Amino acid sequence: MSDVKSENRARFGVPADSMVFARGVRKTYGQLEVLKGVDFDVPEGTVACIIGPSGSGKSTFLRCINHLEKLSGGILLVDSQFVGYDLQGDRLYEVKDDLLCRRRAEIGMLFQSFNLFSHMTVMENLIEAPTQVRRIPVDQARAEAEVLLRRVSLADKVDRYPRELSGGQQQRVAIARAMAMKPKVLLFDEPTSALDPELVGEVLQVMRDLAESGMTMVVVTHEIGFAREIGDQLVFMDGGVIVERGTPREMIANPKSPRTREFLSRVL
Ligand code: ADP
Ligand code: MG
Repeated sequence: MSDVKSENRARFGVPADSMVFARGVRKTYGQLEVLKGVDFDVPEGTVACIIGPSGSGKSTFLRCINHLEKLSGGILLVDSQFVGYDLQGDRLYEVKDDLLCRRRAEIGMLFQSFNLFSHMTVMENLIEAPTQVRRIPVDQARAEAEVLLRRVSLADKVDRYPRELSGGQQQRVAIARAMAMKPKVLLFDEPTSALDPELVGEVLQVMRDLAESGMTMVVVTHEIGFAREIGDQLVFMDGGVIVERGTPREMIANPKSPRTREFLSRVL
């Protein structure tokens, strides 16, 4: 392990198996405090599901993990490397831009809206970042993309454009595209919310396969059944804080906080 990682681990007491480590993470926009001190741990090879009402800060938190937002405070490390910290309230660590791009390349993010490159075929979508960012030879990138497309059952769609695919197929392409960068962790922000109900299952199946293959995942979702089945931990966010966390089964069967109970009763 690199010296930086072991130093960070010793300094902040990061567990040896940590992939995401957040302590007291705050994010403000002007006067609006969106994250009010979030503590969060995702061990390598596990799946964390995040639920909570609209506006509770779930997307903002994912964006912090993915270096898309600067923290206003707290400590956040991915794979024991800094995203940012502010221990005494006077020192905000910022990752330099070139490093930021490299770090971001190690983290995959999936959105409700798929965000495929619409003017590129499925294959072109998959090889773009590996060839441009990682400088992998095109032949190798294509070969790896074919393997990934088989994994998401879309080997026959290599030369299609996104508009020729269903929403479920597009999201599976987006997942394969994220995997093509060999990320250390995949972040999902309501990946099935934009899909027709009959297409949700095929995307959840791909996510289930990824989880079983040992991929570390953070999943914001309203699919409580999925969270119960696949999640190693379930986190309930409300008003910019984590109100409750636990194993999905425990929390769904027996929520401790009245806010969790009320939320679950609405989505179950
Ligand atoms: P969730 O994903 O749980 O629905 P969000 O993280 O999207 O919640 O938003 C949490 C709060 O932060 C909301 O009140 C939202 O309006 C606000 N917010 C999010 N992004 C910004 C931004 N870029 N500028 C100002 N306010 C924002
Ligand atoms: Mg959101």
